Amino acid sequence: MMGFYMQRRPLMAGNWKMHTTRGEARTLASAVAAACAKESDRDVLLAPPFTALSAVSQAIAGSAIILSGQNVCWQEQGAFTGEISPGMLKDAGARAAIVGHSERRQIFGESDALINQRVAGALRSDLLVILCVGETLDEREAGKAFNVLENQVRIGLTGVTAENMTRLVLAYEPVWAIGTGRTATKEQAQETHAFIRGLLSQLYEKNVADQLRILYGGSVKPTNVDELMAQPDIDGVLVGGAALDAASFGRIINFEQE
Ligand code: PEP
Repeated sequence: MMGFYMQRRPLMAGNWKMHTTRGEARTLASAVAAACAKESDRDVLLAPPFTALSAVSQAIAGSAIILSGQNVCWQEQGAFTGEISPGMLKDAGARAAIVGHSERRQIFGESDALINQRVAGALRSDLLVILCVGETLDEREAGKAFNVLENQVRIGLTGVTAENMTRLVLAYEPVWAIGTGRTATKEQAQETHAFIRGLLSQLYEKNVADQLRILYGGSVKPTNVDELMAQPDIDGVLVGGAALDAASFGRIINFEQE
């Protein structure tokens, strides 16, 4: 399969979290497809709940939208109650998976080691992976943000080869900015993205770091997307709340280059 990056094409991703019935999902996906039909210089990804994947897959057929799961198991089948395998995601029409979202970490107690297993399993199955990392407010205020992020990146990527990095995207999502209406400033986000890219160039060769897409997530809205996307190390966004409204997400997809 071809790599996920192409000269860091902007990737605009919508995470619908635990929202939408199949009918609502179809309507929203069709509206998003209509909003991005003519865009060819950026990628668009939608992550509906598992139950709506097939419906969304049908609704976006013929568009270039990438369909994604919100999580994925590292095993193909077996006694893993409540989990969804890479093959099941692909069967439902998805070719990507979000892994390590802060809600998985904070609410469901997923550890870096568990998240690493998910990353490895998804890559083994040729899925594209969006690995999320991000510090809490306490950690940032204690001056520990970069340490926390370094751990999350190092452990999350343990065993991931440079070749597999072509099918991986990182998403920096400060926990204090998710769903709070409080966005990192563009300077804070850029500084953190540059730190993560620097770390990647230590873990891999520089060209891997240079080509890796790093998304920003945390209260991205039509009103702040342009300035965020103007930052040199921000290669896309992962959007929660504003992705549930077709007009808002359409404006985010069609961000304006400053
Ligand atoms: C997210 O779900 O990853 C997210 C960033 O949510 P919100 O845009 O609502 O802050």
